[in-house]
Amino acid sequence: MLKRCERCQAEVEAEELRDYAGQQLCEDCYLEAMSTIRACDPWAVHTAKSILATQGQQLTPQQQQLYDLVRGAQEISLSEAAEQLGLSENELRREFATLRHMELLRAQPRPQGIVLTLF
Ligand SMILES: [Zn+2]
Repeated sequence: MLKRCERCQAEVEAEELRDYAGQQLCEDCYLEAMSTIRACDPWAVHTAKSILATQGQQLTPQQQQLYDLVRGAQEISLSEAAEQLGLSENELRREFATLRHMELLRAQPRPQGIVLTLF
C-alpha cells in the first residue's frame, strides 16, 4: 500500500513512513528533519550549500540522465521516467531522492499523480 509523504509528497510504502512531530514522512524527509534541528546555524547551512555547489558535477551517470530527462520533459511521472531510463521505480526513486536533496529536482502533486520537475 502506497502512502504519501506529507513533506515532499513522494509516494512510499506505508511501512517506510516515519512519524515526525505528527507528520508522516518518508525516510529521506525524516532524516532531513532530524538533521535540520540545528538549521538555525546559518554558517553550517551555507557550508553545506557551498560543498554541493562545488560538487555539482559529481552526479552518477544515472542521476545525470534523470536530471537531463526531467529538464527536457519539464514534467514527467515517476513510472515514465523509470521506463525511459530502464530503471525500476525503486531505483528511480533512490536516484531522485539524491537529486532532491541536492535541490536539483522535486516532486509535484498533479491530478494524475506525482510528477518530477526541476527544483
Ligand atoms: Zn518525503
